[in-house]
Amino acid sequence: MINILRIGHRISRDKRITTHVALVARAFGADKIFIDTVDKKIEETIRSTCDRFGGNFAIETGVDKKKIIKNWDGTIVHLTMYGDELEKSINKIDKKKDLLVIVGAEKVPPHIYEMADFNISIGNQPHSEVAALAIFLDRYTDGKWQKKKFNGKIEILPCDKGKKVISKDK
Ligand code: SAM
Repeated sequence: MINILRIGHRISRDKRITTHVALVARAFGADKIFIDTVDKKIEETIRSTCDRFGGNFAIETGVDKKKIIKNWDGTIVHLTMYGDELEKSINKIDKKKDLLVIVGAEKVPPHIYEMADFNISIGNQPHSEVAALAIFLDRYTDGKWQKKKFNGKIEILPCDKGKKVISKDK
């Protein structure tokens, strides 16, 4: 199981980007996102997406991040521009174990770096938790996220012009 932990979420400042972190997590093969701050609006948005577009993605907000990290029975990856190279680290991760991927918002406290099994960078330039997570999940799943079936009420079919949408409600 692939789980994401979004830390430092500030409702007023980060609502769009944290929503995007959750949407990327869902689309790129993760099973669940934990968010440290209670945010009912994001829960509603993500559950509504799952309701329409399918999948079993779960969301829980207002979690105790220290408890989750301390009790995690599996591997913990922290994505940070200060981390070790993706190419070097990715093959060291045991994919049989449950994975917790931590992404930050504001400054990430030092104990997160200590508690993670792997601090991994997606290049060493500052960019975005959304981009970092997308690239990490693509590599971790070897691109298999693209084949994942969501079986939603709405299914979008790839096409080169216009929009092809199957709506199973109708
Ligand atoms: N200034 C904060 C700090 O020093 O910890 C980080 C802010 S950054 C906008 C938010 C998050 O994006 C980071 O916590 C990290 O998870 C992710 N991120 C940004 N650039 C990254 C990179 N080059 N590699 C991996 N993760 C990155």
